[in-house]
Amino acid sequence: MNKQYDVVIIGAGAAGLYGALQFKNNISVLVLSKREFTLSNSSLAQGGIAAVLDQSHDNFKLHIADTLIAGKYKNNLAAIEVLVSEGPSDVLRLKEMGVDFDIDQTGKLQMTLEAGHSRHRIVHHKDSTGKAIVDTLLEQVQKCPNVDMCENTMVYELKKTNGGFIVSVINKDGLNENIFAKYCIIASGGIGRVYEYTTNSAIATGDGITLAYRLGSDIKHLSWIQFHPTAFAAEKDRERFLISEAVRGEGAILVNCNGERFAQQYDERGELAPRDVVSNAIMLESEKTNSEKFYLDITHKDPEFIKNRFPMIYAKCLEEGVDITKDKIPVFPCQHYLMGGIDVNLNAETTVKDLYAAGECSHTGVHGANRLASNSLLEALVFSRRASEDITRKLSARKDSDTIFDVPAPKDLSGNKLPQGIRTEIRKIMQDVHFVIKKPEKAAQSLERIKEILNNLENGGYEITSDFIEARSAATVAYIIMTEVINNDSK
Ligand SMILES: Cc1cc2nc3c(=O)[nH]c(=O)nc-3n(C[C@H](O)[C@H](O)[C@H](O)COP(=O)(O)OP(=O)(O)OC[C@H]3O[C@@H](n4cnc5c(N)ncnc54)[C@H](O)[C@@H]3O)c2cc1C
Repeated sequence: MNKQYDVVIIGAGAAGLYGALQFKNNISVLVLSKREFTLSNSSLAQGGIAAVLDQSHDNFKLHIADTLIAGKYKNNLAAIEVLVSEGPSDVLRLKEMGVDFDIDQTGKLQMTLEAGHSRHRIVHHKDSTGKAIVDTLLEQVQKCPNVDMCENTMVYELKKTNGGFIVSVINKDGLNENIFAKYCIIASGGIGRVYEYTTNSAIATGDGITLAYRLGSDIKHLSWIQFHPTAFAAEKDRERFLISEAVRGEGAILVNCNGERFAQQYDERGELAPRDVVSNAIMLESEKTNSEKFYLDITHKDPEFIKNRFPMIYAKCLEEGVDITKDKIPVFPCQHYLMGGIDVNLNAETTVKDLYAAGECSHTGVHGANRLASNSLLEALVFSRRASEDITRKLSARKDSDTIFDVPAPKDLSGNKLPQGIRTEIRKIMQDVHFVIKKPEKAAQSLERIKEILNNLENGGYEITSDFIEARSAATVAYIIMTEVINNDSK
């Protein structure tokens, strides 16, 4: 790691890695990841990427219309037009780089259908598309002579300085290092770990959103969160795996703690209603029955059919002691995706000059109030590329390529020991205030406590560790979400 770069990218998921690949060899780039490179929401993506790749049966207008319908027309149309029209060439670039997308018997890319899409347009690699993409991107970035990569290096502070930014990190030895960057792209992913139940990776703690917020960048619609209705309800695990919609699509029924089917009482589409509607039905039914016990039941289907159709889900549930051919699957909604985030324009630039954001941490307006399945990886690619293109244009107009910028000396990170339980308390509050259903009265009650926690973190003289940074991020994200809930930033 050097002391000075043209561009520092915070994050090594799909957005960070793809963005890094766009820079020519004369532009120096540093990619940072707070844990191992392979730990990210991108690596967990299962279904695939949506793109109009075969105009004989699909077109941009249809993809735009599907995205708007899913987003309840609260999307930014200009951003969707960019996403849909430019996305296909980014997906084809992934294929050229070596992502092994599944192909059909005729040798063409296999395209599947997902909820909310009116056409078959999801390309995939089995049920582990994200891992296939991240592995390929990592391999490509590692070949770039102009890109340095550091894992287990956590950014804890971002400050504007003359000509760029000072990026302060805790390195793998727990020590502070400071780096100068002319431009910075935040690609730090989502906020799932601010909740008790989430599908998100352990890195999804809202750090990048907090860094941008502290720099004065606009944050928009952070309370626009997608909750998946049927995650496996393991008692012990915070990170939960999904029982895909396809299981309901194949006839699984949803029952409450008394074994009663209830979804149709809330929406005539029953179990097959959109994600937010089914999640909502479960939460209302939970209040009615005073129980969080819910089950998906597909035992009426032929066991061989179930095993062939859902091999991964069958195997995962079996690991948890549930044989889905004989047993009901315990499920409960969980946090899954963030639609809002650091507000950016069509070039992914935030409201802070020369600061960019891409991927799940950003708010491009593409998703509106509800993400259409498989549009998020596409958004990460398109807008991280646009960020890099914009930075490249700006760099070519700068005249300070030989300047050595000042970098502050490392500081001592030691301090008081962080009390235990801060994040647990925040997760409980979030679960109470805005888990599927927003509760403004509870938000109003809990906001004072969150302010108290934030104030204590800011002024307690604590040692700067990854636990401290993640607690500060959780408190900041909770504060922003709760303020929105109170102010009725309605979906
Ligand atoms: C289970 C699951 C299934 C999904 N399936 C799909 C799907 O089929 N199709 C689809 O389109 N989307 C899917 N998604 C959503 C999609 O995977 C994500 O929205 C997308 O991959 C986010 O990419 P990203 O690059 O923005 O963030 P991530 O991939 O999460 O990467 C974030 C990076 O930021 C780094 N970072 C964070 N904080 C710091 C810090 N302080 N300092 C340094 N580094 C930091 C992390 O270490 C990591 O490298 C799924 C998500 C989940 C959880």
